[in-house]
Amino acid sequence: MAVEWPALQAPENPVSAFIALGANLQNPAQQLHDALIAIQGHPDLDLKRQSSLYGSDPMGPADQPAYINAVCMVLTCLSPLALLDTLQAMESAQGRVRDGQRWGPRTLDLDLLLYADHLVDHPRLCVPHPGITQRSFVLLPLLEIAPEISLPGLGLASDYQATVPMLGLSKMEFGFEA
Ligand code: ATP
Ligand code: CA
Ligand code: CA
Repeated sequence: MAVEWPALQAPENPVSAFIALGANLQNPAQQLHDALIAIQGHPDLDLKRQSSLYGSDPMGPADQPAYINAVCMVLTCLSPLALLDTLQAMESAQGRVRDGQRWGPRTLDLDLLLYADHLVDHPRLCVPHPGITQRSFVLLPLLEIAPEISLPGLGLASDYQATVPMLGLSKMEFGFEA
């Protein structure tokens, strides 16, 4: 049974959190690599798993470069909102500029997909991230590192694989070391 979790409440024990990484500017693969190094080096995040890299067509405005995406799993004692703040600080540190254009090009996008098996409903944070079941570039890397994962309120993630729009998704042959 999915439980609503207050966005500002830190857990007593580490919980698993899944994070989607995306980039389409300034050497996107390097951006994802740098982001994983930052996640790995953060004192409040324990990087446990990371997917392969995936290439995908842009969603929304089409006049922008293709994306590279991945998903990782961390253990953390940060509250959901503190984790979002941490991810947004990492985006800024890697030169993310928010110009108001929805789904516009970016050096780094870090979305919080899942926070344990909790629901979070806050003006700044919706978990599970609504894109999980709609976006192949999120769903497939997630299933790569967590094939049996359940989405709170939505059932098994794998149940969405057959119907998710592929958006030109391709798994890349080369990866990188964490
Ligand atoms: P999308 O969320 O559809 O993937 P996006 O990643 O391009 O779009 P951003 O401009 O990066 O959107 O973020 C807009 C706002 O979304 C953020 O400022 C943040 O407050 C909010 N947000 C809500 N839920 C989440 C979440 N689960 N992960 C990250 N940001 C979230
Ligand atoms: Ca996003
Ligand atoms: Ca985002």
